[in-house]
Amino acid sequence: MMKYVLLLAVVGLALWWFKRRTSEPRAKAPPPAKPAARAGTSAAEPATMVACAHCGVHLPQSEALMDAAGRPYCGEAHRVAGPR
Ligand SMILES: [Zn+2]
Repeated sequence: MMKYVLLLAVVGLALWWFKRRTSEPRAKAPPPAKPAARAGTSAAEPATMVACAHCGVHLPQSEALMDAAGRPYCGEAHRVAGPR
């Protein structure tokens, strides 16, 4: 009789430990947040590449600076310099 009680206790402990082990990471580490959307760009678009209108370097659209005409630039200096 004592053998079964002990077995039950061990199984119960194992189940409790297993439940703790499997539920803990989910509670402690939520899925990593997606990088915050940059102002004025759509975060849903997967890295559309654009070419700087001044020097022609390619960069993700999310990092490009647009002028009033909608031309992409690699940086503020080239946006000020304008299209080549
Ligand atoms: Zn440039």
